[in-house]
Amino acid sequence: MPLNRDDILRALETVKLPDGKSLPASGRLTDVVINDGKVIFAITIDPSEVNTLEGVRSSAEQIVKRLPGVTGVLVGLTADRAAGSAPAPTSGRTPGPTPMRSGPKNPPAATSNLTGIPGVKHIIAVASGKGGVGKSTTSCNLALGLAALGLKIGILDADIYGPSQPKLFGLRGKPFVTSERKMQPLERYGVKVMSIGFLVDEETAMIWRGPMVMSALTQMLREVAWGDLDVLVVDMPPGTGDAQLTMAQQTPLAGAVIVSTPQDLALLDARRGVAMFRKVNVPVLGVIENMANFCCPNCGHVSPIFGHGGARAEAEKTGVPFLGEIPLHMEIRETSDEGRPVVATTPDGPHSQAYLAIARKVWAALDSGAASKPAPRIVIE
Ligand code: ADP
Repeated sequence: MPLNRDDILRALETVKLPDGKSLPASGRLTDVVINDGKVIFAITIDPSEVNTLEGVRSSAEQIVKRLPGVTGVLVGLTADRAAGSAPAPTSGRTPGPTPMRSGPKNPPAATSNLTGIPGVKHIIAVASGKGGVGKSTTSCNLALGLAALGLKIGILDADIYGPSQPKLFGLRGKPFVTSERKMQPLERYGVKVMSIGFLVDEETAMIWRGPMVMSALTQMLREVAWGDLDVLVVDMPPGTGDAQLTMAQQTPLAGAVIVSTPQDLALLDARRGVAMFRKVNVPVLGVIENMANFCCPNCGHVSPIFGHGGARAEAEKTGVPFLGEIPLHMEIRETSDEGRPVVATTPDGPHSQAYLAIARKVWAALDSGAASKPAPRIVIE
């Protein structure tokens, strides 16, 4: 008999909360996702309950792990609340993450309160105001550029609705789970890579609601054996909605990089990206103009088909550094599609050099302390 949701809920009835209610009866369980023997769910809490309910989380995990047919369990505590679930208690509430659905209207807590990841010196987000501007391609080549500077680099594909890092790095397969119950990131071209694309198929991730997404991301961030890293690059989901805001808020970011194409619309969106990170007190390290010029592969003629220089002007206007421009070029698209990113495969070429120059600027900002390092304080696991 294949594993089903009812078996899991039945098993979880033996897990009791401090008020004596069983976990399923408490209304705190999010959706239970079952994928190929892997069980993923989260328990909704108020941020002040993180210490009290850690025991409940680990009991739930242990109990589900013992069920026949279960090959892996991921249980998170989440301060996000799904529509229709029981409200988290409000008494004794401490400042913490804004619930996913409250959106930008509620002033969010500063990210400087978040706990860092042991061994990881800096975490940076690569974000864009909208999809399709080349954010994932840029994240991948920026990570490789930082690695080419001799730094220890990891990349977390947090673009949960369209994970592309497995394809960009040409990686397949499932992460190995270590004896400390951490997932081992896959590795290619000297970069450690973790993506939800390694764990579930795209359709499964698509049906997840906000709390599930946050829970999965928290686990990918904190329950991965990253080892020692100088920089962990987080490829964010595109856009500046509530999900992105919450993610920016709950990740201990040292800084953010915004990718934009030169079109006006993208720039408007990019401005929203800058505003979003400022709102949660994450320093914006700068803007990258992607697809800045089109270079004809036949005659070499360079045309600014989207209009050129807009991102630089916009960066100056909004007071954020301009990190550089990357041309629109067939080689970048082809190598990305083939899992042979340009910085790894033709490091001396002009496109790689452009990415490398940007990587140097990003590292200079991080290393000089221009991007602030968050002070540790546990908010949520
Ligand atoms: P996003 O992450 O913003 O959705 P992607 O990185 O997936 O965007 O890029 C979208 C498409 O554009 C991909 O096919 C990618 O290969 C291509 N692309 C991205 N940047 C460039 C570039 N500078 N030149 C040519 N193609 C590019």
